[in-house]
Amino acid sequence: MTRMLRAAIGSGLITCLFMPTAAFAAASPGNGKTQITWYGNAAFKVTTPAGHVLLIDPWITNPRNTTGKADLAALDKVDLILISHGHADHIGDAVAIAKRTGAKLVSTHDLGTALVAYAGYPAKDVSIDGQGDFGGEFSFFGGEVRITLIPAVHSSGVEVPRGENAPPAVEYGGNPSGFLITVRGGPTIYHTGDTDVYGDMKLIPMHHHVDVMLTCIGNHFTMGPDGAALAVQLVQPDVVIPMHFKGLPGFTGTPEAFRAALEKHHAKARLMVLSVHQTVEF
Ligand SMILES: [Zn+2]
Repeated sequence: MTRMLRAAIGSGLITCLFMPTAAFAAASPGNGKTQITWYGNAAFKVTTPAGHVLLIDPWITNPRNTTGKADLAALDKVDLILISHGHADHIGDAVAIAKRTGAKLVSTHDLGTALVAYAGYPAKDVSIDGQGDFGGEFSFFGGEVRITLIPAVHSSGVEVPRGENAPPAVEYGGNPSGFLITVRGGPTIYHTGDTDVYGDMKLIPMHHHVDVMLTCIGNHFTMGPDGAALAVQLVQPDVVIPMHFKGLPGFTGTPEAFRAALEKHHAKARLMVLSVHQTVEF
């Protein structure tokens, strides 16, 4: 994977902070590459070389996505939906997408149970194939995609509306997670979910070389830029892409501060800052 990544870097696919959008390659499905598209917040689409489509924390209609409704309507083929925890900005539009596409849910078993019971995720699409717990690995599409749940230091209550004049009920949503996604013939991707930095992140590179780390940097609800830079030191990815910043109250972390923190901590990963809708290939 590293060799492939270097080739991508050499070809100009990967650029540093604030390079113009046009420097990134346009998406062209079926070219043997894995495509990663950011929709804002923690929402990403991953398209594999074989054309399988994964959505992670798919809040497509988040406030930073000015064409959210159109993007949502355009998502007509989705194979898997990965949800890291029960907060509304991560469940996002998952239920609507699942009802339309039959996408299978990948999450902790407890969260899956809660999403069926309280959020309306179709029960037929929540099965043992994508439901488990930490330490295990799920395999999809004959092994083209393998997914491991990674712990996250956060919370995972699922808010259930109780009418206009009542506060929502908060139902148990299990332990929050991140995801390690290994694509055959493609990159290994670590999506942190919402988390603080924690020492056991250093175990991740003992199991897997991470090509691309998608890390929260927003502060207030998660680690901010400094904590995220420490996390990068522990995980040792080749490329790091910040997410979960701007657009919601309390989000003070910025890519500029993240870049400074990476330099301060001498983190070696290459920083890529995506704009909403941007697609990069590995
Ligand atoms: Zn959260």
